[in-house]
Formats: sequence, C-alpha cells, structure tokens
Amino acid sequence: MTRPAFELPVVGATPVDHAANAAAFTADAARTTWHDESLWFVREKRDRAAASVPEWEALRARASAIKEHALTHLDEYLVRFEENAVRNGMQVHWARDAEEHNRIVHGILADAGARRLVKSKSMLTEECGLNPYLEARGIEVIDTDLGERIVQLRGEGPSHIVMPAIHLKKEEVGDTFHDALGTPAGLDDPTALAAVAREHLRARFLAADATLTGMNFAIAETGGFVVCTNEGNADLGMALAPVHVASVGIEKVIPRVEDLGVFLRLLARSATGQAVTVYSSHVHGPRAGQALHVVLVDNGRTRQLAREEFWRSLKCIRCGACMNTCPIYRRSGGHSYGSTVPGPIGSILTPGIDLQRFASLPFASTLCGSCTAVCPVKIDIDAQLFRWRQRVVDAGYVPRSKALAMETSVRVLDRPRLFRALGAVARLGLRLLPARVERLLAGPWGDARELPAPPSTSFRAWYRRNRRGGRR
Ligand code: SF4
Repeated sequence: MTRPAFELPVVGATPVDHAANAAAFTADAARTTWHDESLWFVREKRDRAAASVPEWEALRARASAIKEHALTHLDEYLVRFEENAVRNGMQVHWARDAEEHNRIVHGILADAGARRLVKSKSMLTEECGLNPYLEARGIEVIDTDLGERIVQLRGEGPSHIVMPAIHLKKEEVGDTFHDALGTPAGLDDPTALAAVAREHLRARFLAADATLTGMNFAIAETGGFVVCTNEGNADLGMALAPVHVASVGIEKVIPRVEDLGVFLRLLARSATGQAVTVYSSHVHGPRAGQALHVVLVDNGRTRQLAREEFWRSLKCIRCGACMNTCPIYRRSGGHSYGSTVPGPIGSILTPGIDLQRFASLPFASTLCGSCTAVCPVKIDIDAQLFRWRQRVVDAGYVPRSKALAMETSVRVLDRPRLFRALGAVARLGLRLLPARVERLLAGPWGDARELPAPPSTSFRAWYRRNRRGGRR
C-alpha cells in the first residue's frame, strides 16, 4: 500500500490545555493518590494474567501481525465483511464521518418509529456525539453499562475507555443515585447501588424500541461480529429489542474466525486481568423478526491510515492497558485529555483528528515506554508520541516561550565553549540564589521538587580528574 506524504490534520478551535486540566485534578491530592492506586492495582492484575500465559509474547506478536495485515488490506476485508454480513441478513451502512453516522442511526430509528434506545458501551458513539444528537431529536438514550450510566446521570463523559467512572468515589456514585434515582441519602454500598441500577435498567431494557451496540471484532470471513462485555447488558439489549444497530470503526475488521482466539485471549487479560470477558457474544445475523443494521464508520481513520508515521495506532483493540500503566494518566485523570479516548493511545489518535486542538496531548507523557511494553498489539506508542511532538512543533502549535527555550538550547549545545561558560555561571548562581527563586526559575516543574545542591565542578572536569587519569 502506498501512502501519501504527511498530511496536516484539520485545524479546529479551543485548544485543550492538558497541563491546566491536570492541575485542576491534582488539586485534590487524596483523589489523585486513590486514582493512581486504583489503576495501578489493575495494571498489576494485568501483569499476573499475562505472566500466567507462557506464550504471551508470541500472542502479542501474532496479534500485531494480524492487525498489520488487516490494516494494509482493509479495502478488501471491509468489502468481504459487507458481502458476508448482507448474506447473513444484516443491512450495512457506510459513514464517512460522525455527522453521517449520527444521521444514519437516527434515520434507522425514525423509520422504525423508535423513541427509546438502550445502548451498550461504544466509544465510537461517544466520539461521534451520538447521544446529544439523538436526544435533540426526541429520542431517549439510556447507556446500560453501569459505569457509563453513572457518568450519563452526572452529565459527564467517560474518563476511561474500559472503566468509564473510575474517577468517582463510591460516595459520589451514592449521591448521584440519590439525586437521579431516589436512593436513600448516604447509601454508598456498591452491592446495594448495583442492585438499584439493575432494577432501574431492567425497566429500560423491557421498554426499549431499539438497541445499539459496538463491536470488538468484525470478522470478514463470516460477516459476523463479536461484542465483549462484563455485564451482559449488550446481550440483553440484543435479545429484547426489535431493532439492533451495531456501530463500528472500520479498523475493527479482522480477516478470519481463527484470529479471534488470539485477540480474545489478549483483550480481557490486558484490560482487567481477567482470563476472558464474562460475555463474548457472537452475532451472525438478526434474530427472527429483528432488523440488524451495521454502520461502518471512517471519521478520520483513513486519514490516519495514510500517515506513514501513525497508521499503526489503528491496531488498537481498546483494552485500556496503556492508560492503567501511564504515570501521567494515573495522576491526571481521563477528563484532563479533553478527548473521547484519553491516555497514551488517545494522545496519538486525537491529534490526527484536530492537531491544533489536541496539540498539548503528545506532551502529556514521560516517554517512559511503559505503554508500549504492555500494549497487546505492540503499538510503538511512545515513539509515535515523540513523532507527534515534532509535528506539533513543525506546525507552530507550541507556546512561543517553549519554542524560544528550545532554540536557545540548540544554540548553546552547539557551542561547547559557550556551554562550559554558562555551566560555570549556572553552578555559581544555583549556589547563591535562594531556593524560592530557583523554584520560580524552574516553573511548574520546580513546584513539586527540591533541586539538588549544585556540584562544585562540571562533570567534564570531574571526569578528567577521576576517570581518564584512573584508567591510564
Ligand atoms: S494502544 Fe494498546 S494498550 Fe492502549 S488501549 Fe490500544 S491496544 Fe490497549
């Protein structure tokens, strides 16, 4: 497949300031610690689950290769999927962008006279802004994944792609249920709250005119698809509603049924440390009397596929492992990214949609590579983040002060004498200046750090005295 030279993404409005959003999150130190620890707990469960599979690394390599093959033959596999899905009795629609996706879904519901939709977790529909689109047209949309329902009742978006309400404490969930569902004030026992949610959602399932699910994998060979959940909510919707809409990003197609085993073994272990998701439901066609519509959505994916430096990001199977391990995500919360998919992978995908708006995200990383180490499909996440930084600088979207500092650094590092002279001045200055001024000079970086005492001499001089001489 030949790809065109790098194409600058669409330019949008209101840039996301990740650092400012993160500062707001970390102002609550207790929440930051608890959020960090909760995600690290999941990361450790993932490590144990991965270690229990001797061929784990071989599985990762296989999954990566399958995705690479599927993405480089996407045109063939999508058409094959469509042909087989239609043969299975599904109606297949193609959406170029979010607006077209929403219009198609609304058209399907309107044609069926559907006014009440139950939805299982679908980050794609979050990306497309489907809920507000349908609600503005008089359709009631109920998110049925428990975490999604909690954030929906609060008027928030999910903060994590697998655990949408991970930023909330049980007391906050209790308050939300008290306000929205009339539970007793102060009730925050998770089991009791889950029982209330079950009752509340069951009535919605029974009254629904239609259901919408995502797809974890669309299988070209059979025209079937697989939906993975832990709560069985997608299954209940599919079993009860007369109309089923399944929305999927075009990158989710895999060639063969036998590929599924590779991904299903990796997905749940990477996501939550489970051996497999509780429900991995295979759909091969509509139930008797049910209409089943599949909407294949591009929304910027073919643009990303055309970018030599970033197309491998489309291998993502949305397990969330890169978020659970990321030291920035764990300490800044998902909402600080201002994007549907937060964390390391979101910081690669979203600049491809709107570079100006999401220019701060590739910098929300230590580039430690922990994300790359856990990714089940071996995406080189940290390398791609680094490349996006270069693109952001090329496009002129870094603050002038930062660009100036970098330009000055280049000039100094290019001139050894100047570098040595400034080093001597800095060592002296750091000894004489009060710590308060030093912290000021270090900016936000210095807020949480005590600078070490400056050395009396340069490394170069120390090396000359101690090592060179010592070896001779
Ligand atoms: S980039 Fe990898 S680790 Fe992150 S969500 Fe996607 S598949 Fe999981």
